[in-house]
Amino acid sequence: MPAVPMNDPEGTPTSYWAATAPAGPNIPTFDGSERADTVVVGAGYTGLSAALHLAQRGSSVLVLDAHEPGWGASGRNNGQVVAALKHEPHEIEERFGKERGGELIRVIGNGPDLVFGLIERYGMECSARRSGILTAAHSATSLADLQRRVEVWMRRGAPLQLLSRAELESRSGTGFYVGGCLDPRGGAINPLGYARGLAAAVLREGGQIRQKAHVNSIVRAASGWRVNLDRGSVVASRVILGTNGYTDDLWPGLKKTFLPARTPQLVSKPLRDNVRKSILPGGQIMSDTRYLTVGVRMHADGRMHLGGGGGTAGADRPVLYEQLPKEARALYPQLGDVEWEFRWSGFMAMTPDRYPRLFELAPDVAAALGYSGRGICTATIMGRELARWAAGDAGIDDLALPVSTFRTLPYYALRGPIIEGTVLFHTLRDRLSPA
Ligand SMILES: Cc1cc2nc3c(=O)[nH]c(=O)nc-3n(C[C@H](O)[C@H](O)[C@H](O)COP(=O)(O)OP(=O)(O)OC[C@H]3O[C@@H](n4cnc5c(N)ncnc54)[C@H](O)[C@@H]3O)c2cc1C
Repeated sequence: MPAVPMNDPEGTPTSYWAATAPAGPNIPTFDGSERADTVVVGAGYTGLSAALHLAQRGSSVLVLDAHEPGWGASGRNNGQVVAALKHEPHEIEERFGKERGGELIRVIGNGPDLVFGLIERYGMECSARRSGILTAAHSATSLADLQRRVEVWMRRGAPLQLLSRAELESRSGTGFYVGGCLDPRGGAINPLGYARGLAAAVLREGGQIRQKAHVNSIVRAASGWRVNLDRGSVVASRVILGTNGYTDDLWPGLKKTFLPARTPQLVSKPLRDNVRKSILPGGQIMSDTRYLTVGVRMHADGRMHLGGGGGTAGADRPVLYEQLPKEARALYPQLGDVEWEFRWSGFMAMTPDRYPRLFELAPDVAAALGYSGRGICTATIMGRELARWAAGDAGIDDLALPVSTFRTLPYYALRGPIIEGTVLFHTLRDRLSPA
């Protein structure tokens, strides 16, 4: 039986992020006396960004999280700040039309400006480095796709650069790929530091946050909505749900609108000086075009960090971490024996078409989720968009992402075999892709 995401252990997982991010602000627990115009459920990027943008407007806002800020995917991810969804700009335009699609592409392209802008404005300590993102092509077909990506973005004024095999090799230190591209808009962060920084910014702007505040249900009240917790309830005019891959039963059917996929992260002990200098010497993060994308980054203390390359719907278990060391050796044979010091995992919310969802669940109740592994920028953007809606500055139909039809996945109960079958299928497919 697949694990229930919200049953992941209490407390921040022992990750490299937890070992290196500054402590978050002191957050009280819920005592039942709290009042707010807008209640936000979930203290990840979606919820915290929504609360921050509301608090900046002077609106009263209360964030409730069953655990603590950054406990979910926001504190566990790879830290790649990417100006992209899982789809190429031309596909987004085909899907949403020239006008809505074009606007979405523009907003997504500005995602890193939003994230790095907030980090700078609020002095968040999250090792932010805007040195660009490398995408490495594993096959000639995927290199041709990257060429199109570069051309389309260049036409929109974004300075992406196509890289030959030799150029990619000199920037990445691996000859494994056939070429790639560099997107200078993106960069790297300590994601838990960013989540905690957002929480501190919410408090600084006058918003409230409560941790260990699990929401059981949200029901209509005489005026607005009653948000029910174990230790009382709070009535609000509007409710925003930012629970993503950790969504449980708080809203009927919401957790069945995507598949929760657990993916691994692995960080080594510091590498030998000559080896560390040979890997990603320009300080970029690299990810590749394989379906089971592998992300690679080097930390300032000489540790190598790998993420992705597989997944499960089940509990965290050793087999989840078996593939990444093999990937590391295939990419960088000079590594020799590496000791992997930190390993952890987290749940992504994967939608079938890998587009995020904006749901109007009921009048004055909205949710954004399903970022499919691209959530640092997108969740921050969606939080900002939901704040515009909750503050009454925009209608739900005027936000950057068009509203989705609420549909549960009929095969949700089979998510375990589906995710593991998909991983197996794509592992084979990625291996067979002609380079
Ligand atoms: C391993 C991994 C690597 C990733 N790498 C990247 C990357 O490099 N770049 C990128 O852009 N994206 C990446 N992502 C995706 C990104 O991390 C997520 O899309 C993003 O963090 C989602 O933020 P969120 O606020 O919507 O949800 P989350 O951060 O998951 O937060 C949801 C919160 O909701 C709370 N919650 C749930 N139910 C309830 C309830 N009933 N009551 C109260 N609280 C509740 C949970 O406690 C949790 O804190 C990665 C994800 C994972 C898992």
